[in-house]
Amino acid sequence: MSATILVVEDEPGIQEVLKFNLGQHGHDVIVAPDAEEALSLLRGALPDLMLLDWMLPGMSGIDLARRIRGDGRLKGIPIIMLTARSEERDKIQGLDIGADDYITKPFSPRELMARIKAVLRRRAPQMTEDVVEIGGLKLDPLSHRVFGNQQPLDLGPTEFRLLHFLMTHPERVYSRSQLLDQVWGDHVFVEERTVDVHIRRLRSALEGTGHDRLIQTVRGAGYRFSATPA
Ligand code: CA
Repeated sequence: MSATILVVEDEPGIQEVLKFNLGQHGHDVIVAPDAEEALSLLRGALPDLMLLDWMLPGMSGIDLARRIRGDGRLKGIPIIMLTARSEERDKIQGLDIGADDYITKPFSPRELMARIKAVLRRRAPQMTEDVVEIGGLKLDPLSHRVFGNQQPLDLGPTEFRLLHFLMTHPERVYSRSQLLDQVWGDHVFVEERTVDVHIRRLRSALEGTGHDRLIQTVRGAGYRFSATPA
């Protein structure tokens, strides 16, 4: 699993430890020393997850988290709060404003990695390397292979990402613009009909084993992955 992680932390020692450990686990790390810098980075691109220190110079971590949760474009970012204090009251306040998890300093790198993995698995399962299998269709992110009834299927890179996203979010309808944000990335300017082109290619790749029927068109709304006939 390789995620882009925004670390908002003012202490250089902790910045270094986080950069080193997250890097070791294959994550890309961006560091902001305060909330203002973090907001300016967020205007450019969205990370897959944020590690947010509670006590920051200027705007506090908790105020930044509140601001993120109130912003239509930013509100979906998973947030793990870091704090030096283990007061129950703080923890409740952090989770109340919508942080996904909470970790107290000093923490072990192993504990932090486990928390990150758990949050990503819950909030962004398409980021993990777990094998997904639905209705005889199996996708293995590690080997980058797809099988329909055990037969290997040949997918292009975009169709693979699209299928991975859909299979990790089954039984839900996604509009073309939501799929563009999730699969192509926000701030990528692609026309919505591009989604239709890749859905068509994906269906034709799955046709051999009849799994194209799992990619359903929902008229006027978008697409849904479902093992239940439409
Ligand atoms: Ca701090």
